Parts: sequence; C-alpha cells; structure tokens
Amino acid sequence: MPGFNLYQIAGGALLALILASLAYAVRALSISGSVAAFCLGTILFGLGGLSWAALLLAFFIPSSLLSFLFKQRKSKTEESYQKGSRRDAWQVLANGGIAGVAAIAHTISPGSLLPWLAASAALAAASADTWATELGALSRKEPRLITSGKKVSRGTSGGISIEGEGAALAGALTIAIVSALLLPEGAGASGGFSYPGWILLVTAGGFIGCQVDSLFGATLQVIYYCPVCRKETEKHPLHSCGTETIYKQGIRWMNNDWVNLFCTASAVLIASLLVFVTLA
Ligand SMILES: [Zn+2]
Repeated sequence: MPGFNLYQIAGGALLALILASLAYAVRALSISGSVAAFCLGTILFGLGGLSWAALLLAFFIPSSLLSFLFKQRKSKTEESYQKGSRRDAWQVLANGGIAGVAAIAHTISPGSLLPWLAASAALAAASADTWATELGALSRKEPRLITSGKKVSRGTSGGISIEGEGAALAGALTIAIVSALLLPEGAGASGGFSYPGWILLVTAGGFIGCQVDSLFGATLQVIYYCPVCRKETEKHPLHSCGTETIYKQGIRWMNNDWVNLFCTASAVLIASLLVFVTLA
C-alpha cells in the first residue's frame, strides 16, 4: 500500500537516475532538464510506487521516442521553437510539475482519488501537446491558427492541423488507458467509475487542455520578431541567427513554459469538473 517507504524512495531514485541519464544520452533532455527529471521521477516513483511510475513512463517514453525519431525530418521547423528539442528544467516542470505535486498529495492522503486524477489529466495534456507538436510538425499542409483559421507557418504557436489534433487525441488516450488500468483499488466499477468512463474523462481533460495550450499560444503567449530573417520567433533576446529579436505580441512573461503549465492545469480542472458532473 502507498505511504512513505525508504526502500521505495531509493528504488525510485535509482530508476529516475537511469531514465534521466538515458534521456540526456539521446538528447531528449538538457543537463538542467535531466536534473529536474531525476527529481520529478524520484518523487513520482518514490512516493507513488509502480502505478505512478507507469503513468509517468507512458508519457515520457513515447514523447522522447517521437522527439528522437523525428529530429532530422523536422530540423527545419525546429528553429522557430523557443529552445530546440532538448527539454530544459522549466519545460520538464511545466509538463510534469503538477504530477509531482499530486504524488505528494497522494502520500498525504492515500485514500483520495483526486491526486491520481490530477496526475493523469496533467500528463494526458502534456502527452497530447507533445505528440501534437512532434507529429503535427510532419503535416504536409500548413497549420491554421486556432483563433482565426488563418494559415501560419509550421511551428507557429497556436497553429493546429488535422494531423496534430489526431496526434493530441492519441497522446491523451494513451495516458488515459494506462491511468484506467491502474485505477486505485475501490475506484473502479464498484467506486462509481467504469473503465471506459474513466478513459473518456481523462482523455477529454488532456485533449481540451491541449486546445487551451493552442489558444494561449495564439493569443497570450509572448511572440518576438527577427528583423533580419523576417520571421516570428519564440527566441529572445537573440534569434538563432544572432540578431536581437523585437517584442511583437502577448504578455511579456507568458513564455511557452507558462503556456504548458496552464495547459496541464486546465486539464486537471476540466477532468475534475467532469468527475463532479459524472458523480452528481
Ligand atoms: Zn534571425
């Protein structure tokens, strides 16, 4: 049963260390990203145990593989993203921070289903967003802005495509299935949730959270402009060409990491609302 267990924490730290090192080796994470992933993994594996480990891995393994596999094909698009494909600590925390907080909440209150729901929805949204970004970048057609429907160049924040949306759905569904299979005892059929019902609400939370991400990306996220390349970019203060970028639109502190945090947080909110509606 869950709780505070030193052997579990030591085992969790070891597993987290192996994964963080592997992710660094395949260039999925930067140094700071690996350190953050090690800490996050230790918390999730060490406090949550095997089911929490499985949930994080269901996000981490496919996302890292996708980034790794498509690195070369999308190297042209990569440039317009803020930080390239090596995720740093802020990116790791923006995607996985809520799951870490949920694992701590689970240790404090092991009988509550809410931490498991929160971690599942947050990781479903992170997964949806990552799959959409990696696979959507391969779309042959130009994406359209989620707000106006106007065609935008690949990699533009808030740009969506059919392929990207399909990938988002698949990414959220993957986490939802793992989450349902590992539902804590008593929460399944007898506890008010059927497996399909649980899968549906976690997938919905993750998928809608991903739409919030695009919506924020198109409206509130800070965007800069490179006067030399004549391109919009997330990079600041310097563009990849070395030119200083100029503020164009958005809230100045609202970078992609904040948008990702809002994405995972909104997924938790939506999934929780759906649970209350379902149980009411
Ligand atoms: Zn430039």
